[in-house]
Amino acid sequence: MEFPRIDGVRARAYTVPTDQPEQDGTADWDSTTLVVAAVEAGGVEGLGYTYGPVPLTGMVTGVLGGVLAGRSAADVAGAWEAMGRAVRNAGRPGMAMMAISALDVALWDLKSRLLGVALADLVGGAHDEVPVYGSGGFTSYSLSRLAEQVEGWASAGIPRVKVKTSRRPQEDPARLDAVREAIGHDVELYCDANGALGRKEALYWAERLRAEWDVRWFEEPVSSEDLCGLRLLRDRGPARLDIAAGEYGYLLSQFRDLLTGGCVDCLQADVTRCGGISAFVRVSALCDAFGVDLSAHCAPAVSAHACCGAVHLRHLEYFWDHVRIERMAFEGILDPSGGALRPDRSRPGHGLELKEADLEPYRVA
Ligand SMILES: [Mg+2]
Repeated sequence: MEFPRIDGVRARAYTVPTDQPEQDGTADWDSTTLVVAAVEAGGVEGLGYTYGPVPLTGMVTGVLGGVLAGRSAADVAGAWEAMGRAVRNAGRPGMAMMAISALDVALWDLKSRLLGVALADLVGGAHDEVPVYGSGGFTSYSLSRLAEQVEGWASAGIPRVKVKTSRRPQEDPARLDAVREAIGHDVELYCDANGALGRKEALYWAERLRAEWDVRWFEEPVSSEDLCGLRLLRDRGPARLDIAAGEYGYLLSQFRDLLTGGCVDCLQADVTRCGGISAFVRVSALCDAFGVDLSAHCAPAVSAHACCGAVHLRHLEYFWDHVRIERMAFEGILDPSGGALRPDRSRPGHGLELKEADLEPYRVA
């Protein structure tokens, strides 16, 4: 088959207010910006996206769009390498890699649409369904809102939920009591500190979380840049409390360092930050080499497809903000009932279509 050449790259940004103010261990926000990248070849369009600042649109259509113009739609790996080289002096980790991630997802989607196959199959097809965990539980929520949200996931058959902690640690016992009461004892409970705690404070909370609320997952108890701290938590923390990090990994070497440092029981990676599907499958291979599971961070609509290529996949984060925005933004959203997303293998690509008219009120670029 002869693949067409790329003849168009577009970008849009939409800033969508949250349904109420949100807060975690180290951040506050009241809106989320979705940056959509579209790549066209031979009259077919591939769609990708990331969650990040508005100026990403300029990187997508500017320096990176220039790299893609005229390139064969078949050559996703070569495009990924060339985009990385093109942003060397701008700084590859961070925003540049978010822009590359959105375009890489669009390129994978484009290629699978041209081939007429589902993205989940093109990326590997190792899984038919991707387990999810409900994620939200912001530290700005009232106890009743917190309980209502986690109960919603549990009653949809999602057997694991994650809440934010550690913003005001003295409030966490009452919050976790409310969560346990809402979900019962058969649903796994995870906590995410977003790097808010110091090492010894994190160790203290690790013991309490495991003993008092049967918490099984403690995410970024310390900053994910504190590799020694994560290792300390993993070595000295209680058994059956997994330490997880990796959502801010932008380079393959950052994931390698978390693994070689023995920092995590389960590695996380975000398809929309780490470099797209091309990078996600490489992170997955690193996990295979180290015998560590991989969990996908956020952006569930597209991550569900990427996860089908990860052999040692544990689960995917079904994040409140992104679920809400992706339902507004795309046709073709997957249903998490029963606790898993099942990509539709009959639809080419990731099967998502942008609802541009619905999104127009939120368009900022
Ligand atoms: Mg997190």
